[in-house]
Amino acid sequence: EIENEMEKALDERQFCVYVQPKYDLNREKIVGGEALVRWKHPQKGMIPPGEFIGVFEKNGFIIKLDYFVWEETCKLLSKLKKEGYGGYPISINVSRAHFYGNGLREKLDELIAKYDIAPDELELEITETICAEDPEIIYSKVRQLQAAGFKVAMDDFGSGYSSLNMLKEMPLDIIKMDLKFLDGGDNEEKSHYILQTLISLAQNMQLLVVVEGVETKVQVEFLRGIGSYYAQGYYFSKPVESATYESMIKANK
Ligand code: C2E
Ligand code: CA
Ligand code: CA
Repeated sequence: EIENEMEKALDERQFCVYVQPKYDLNREKIVGGEALVRWKHPQKGMIPPGEFIGVFEKNGFIIKLDYFVWEETCKLLSKLKKEGYGGYPISINVSRAHFYGNGLREKLDELIAKYDIAPDELELEITETICAEDPEIIYSKVRQLQAAGFKVAMDDFGSGYSSLNMLKEMPLDIIKMDLKFLDGGDNEEKSHYILQTLISLAQNMQLLVVVEGVETKVQVEFLRGIGSYYAQGYYFSKPVESATYESMIKANK
């Protein structure tokens, strides 16, 4: 059903882009956002990405859908910049499929030229599982993107088979860690030690850390206590429509 409807859905603009703001933990101000796709189905209502991203990664449609999301993101960045609200980079999710074709760099270059934005206003989120597959291909492509000025973030760090070796080889600017991979269970104390240590490791390596999935005040205070700077999660804001994100940025003084 999803496959039969996807092309039509894209043409009819049933897909849209939500943005989840990222916050500076100490100032509790927005520092940027992450673009997350939504499918507003005319009959079924809102379909969460968890239900279709996997299908599109298998059949290749993810390339087209990501291009759409990236373009909407660039439009939003350009609009904000023209209105005097530059300096709030937005991250986009880059699926593994983009690394096995030749269009990734071309597409990104085309978009930043078309919307007159700087490459460092886009952060490319890549999941660590991609790097485990074909490290040499991925590292060299990522290195080129980084050299061209794009910021590179490792998404869901710690969720899979991330090795310290990857941290050494992969050219990175940002690490995103999701609390859901660490919190809970009977091992809370251990989780805290791991998180604390990863944060200081990343900081020693001059990497920015964004902690995701932050839902409670207790978590916020803990994160502040261990010297973490940036966070994203329902405690601060859910992903919101891009018009809402715009107003949030404009009110973020
Ligand atoms: P992700 O990139 O790790 O995105 C973060 C997910 O966590 C989002 O789910 C977001 O809504 C959710 N989230 C944010 N704050 C909290 C919180 O405090 N608590 C909890 N429990 N969840 C939180 P979403 O939007 O359903 O996206 C799921 C996944 O789908 C994303 O995970 C990403 O891997 C993929 N995805 C979403 N949009 C795109 C896209 O445009 N392109 C590609 N390739 N993948 C996408
Ligand atoms: Ca992400
Ligand atoms: Ca994530």
